[in-house]
Amino acid sequence: MGYDGEFAGYRPLARIVNSERVKNIVARCRKQLPNDGPSGVEPLISDVSPSGWLPDLILAVDGSYHQVPVENGYPGAELAYVTVASVLLNIKKQRELDRSRPVEPLASRRTEEAGSIDCALPGCNVVVDEERTPKASFRRVFFEAIQQERQLSDGETLLETYEALLAYKPKGRPQQCPYEDCPTGAPYQPAPGASRCTCERKRLWYSTDALRIHEGLNPTGPSGAMFAEAMQVWERIWVINFLRWVEREQRRFRILRNLAVVLDGPLAVFGHPAWLAPAIGSELRRINERAREVIGQDLLLVGVEKSGAFVDHFERLDAPSRRTEGAARFKPQTAILLTNDYMVPSSPS
Ligand SMILES: [Zn+2]
Repeated sequence: MGYDGEFAGYRPLARIVNSERVKNIVARCRKQLPNDGPSGVEPLISDVSPSGWLPDLILAVDGSYHQVPVENGYPGAELAYVTVASVLLNIKKQRELDRSRPVEPLASRRTEEAGSIDCALPGCNVVVDEERTPKASFRRVFFEAIQQERQLSDGETLLETYEALLAYKPKGRPQQCPYEDCPTGAPYQPAPGASRCTCERKRLWYSTDALRIHEGLNPTGPSGAMFAEAMQVWERIWVINFLRWVEREQRRFRILRNLAVVLDGPLAVFGHPAWLAPAIGSELRRINERAREVIGQDLLLVGVEKSGAFVDHFERLDAPSRRTEGAARFKPQTAILLTNDYMVPSSPS
């Protein structure tokens, strides 16, 4: 049952939706309605068929961030506590346990092995050490964090992995100096580790500045989108870091024979560090080639989306037929390919 305040909040929204101006634009916008005559575009059902292969191990990687107010005397000061956790699940064991239910909780716990990295990143009005601005502070702390972290004691640091990906970044499009007050406005040139600006002030440049995440720092308020970018980059570098560890010794490729890697969210990278996605794609293809040579098998990497635009869209297509026809429109284990033509309104021909 609704309560008084609820209706009061809803009414202005109805007024907006019914406004002539809104209706006018909705009437003018080009629509794509599946099943709606010849102009309707159907999502492409892919011919990928289930292989029957089941992984024994799943490496799941999931990050989170929490924005925390900082009591440093400046208004709106905040930092973010970023965590990326990975869990190695022995699902072969879990399947075995599942056959003899009830499962003893401790035995179930033994099928998981978890590791995590965390760091606190400066945001609005937070300045560390001798840095002059929050942006410079963020860049420094982000670089230091990624430099220190390694997933496996005999593996490379996250910075080493990142710099391997940086090598794929297309050159040519210059990036402005990460210091907004750089006197010469020298274009930033990514180099491994820390280097120095070419102007007379010779301030530090970090290889991670190429991610441009710091550009999203809001100097007057919360920087949620920036912290989300930082977290997303960590998650993805973490996965590549693990795969590069496998690659270091031929005998480790055995692990991949039975392993699936699951990431939270799409495999893409959005926002300022978007160039990282094609770099990761190239690196995955390279490691996959090696896996084919050694174990004769491809990698399995899956991004899981639990919410967002694609999930909402799928629900809109699938749910009505479940209600009216009693069956879902898409059968379980259907693979759908969403082409660019399907996803984005194109210019009329
Ligand atoms: Zn400079």
